Amino acid sequence: MSDNLAKQKPVYSVVAPVFNEIGCVEEFYTRISGVMGSLKAAWELVLVDDGSTDGSTEIIRSLAEKDPHVRPVIFARNFGHQIAVTAGLDYARGDAVVVIDADLQDPPEVILDLIAKWKEGFEVVYAVRRKREGESWFKLFTASAFYRVIYRITDVKIPLDTGDFRLMDRKVVNVMGKMRERHRFLRGMAAWVGYRQVGVEYDRKERFAGSTKYPLSKMLKLALNAITSFSYFPLQMATYLGFVCAALSIVAIPVVIVLRLSHGAALLGQATTLIMVLFLGGVQLITLGILGEYIGRIYDEVKGRPLYIVSEAPDLEK
Ligand code: UDP
Ligand code: MG
Repeated sequence: MSDNLAKQKPVYSVVAPVFNEIGCVEEFYTRISGVMGSLKAAWELVLVDDGSTDGSTEIIRSLAEKDPHVRPVIFARNFGHQIAVTAGLDYARGDAVVVIDADLQDPPEVILDLIAKWKEGFEVVYAVRRKREGESWFKLFTASAFYRVIYRITDVKIPLDTGDFRLMDRKVVNVMGKMRERHRFLRGMAAWVGYRQVGVEYDRKERFAGSTKYPLSKMLKLALNAITSFSYFPLQMATYLGFVCAALSIVAIPVVIVLRLSHGAALLGQATTLIMVLFLGGVQLITLGILGEYIGRIYDEVKGRPLYIVSEAPDLEK
């Protein structure tokens, strides 16, 4: 029976990005097989190897040889987590697609809760982190601040404390497939699509093995992508800064005149000039930098390069 099911078009696709997860992949596969096998419906596991260099690729290959449920997509190099998930969504064929991390921080058993909500008719079921175990206070603090800043300044209401662990209906996956922006923030894109969405709470566990592949630099990049993809707030901030400086100078002119007339030698000398030049120079450079962030992104889009390069994807149509 399981052999027949494996050959059918899957009802469920599980998509997991893998980047140097040699300690996790096999255990992850075992846990996913257990959960998905209990469903009595055809399923597939799309493992996207995001340029691993630690031997995870070989493990993925051997899993695919042993079990036809496993469909590997192997990248030519590391393209980053969001792009790896995108490739997984492109290759997934199921009616419902679940995105989950391969490090077992998102317990595979929660997938059953997501599927239950999907069966009730929701098109996006996202998993909300109730608790996070085994993560540093720095990660907890920055993550929490990140979700709240994004929520405030973006135009799309992205659910708080929600990562990429979610289930999406085929309709949503198809729409996301048409959104080919380069600097991707999938949580925002999934929220932007609309449809009926609902959250399911879960406890985020400790990593099964290895260490995080999201250092501060990558987190900052993701945050910048999130802000620039869904908000003009930084550009508007440049305008506000301009108005504040102009208003200050209008107030300053009569103040200087009065001081000069009453005190004679007030505000003479180069120090005041220097401070003003530095202040204005700083403001201008910051606004230029903000403009640059947006222009750089436009440039990347205009180049129109492929989002990712697949070096190996046996048995796949694409
Ligand atoms: N990942 C990836 N490419 C990267 C970084 C991470 O495919 O460049 C994968 C990683 O293997 C894991 C998931 O994305 O399955 C989440 O990464 P991680 O657990 O390191 O992030 P954290 O949970 O610490 O935020
Ligand atoms: Mg993790």
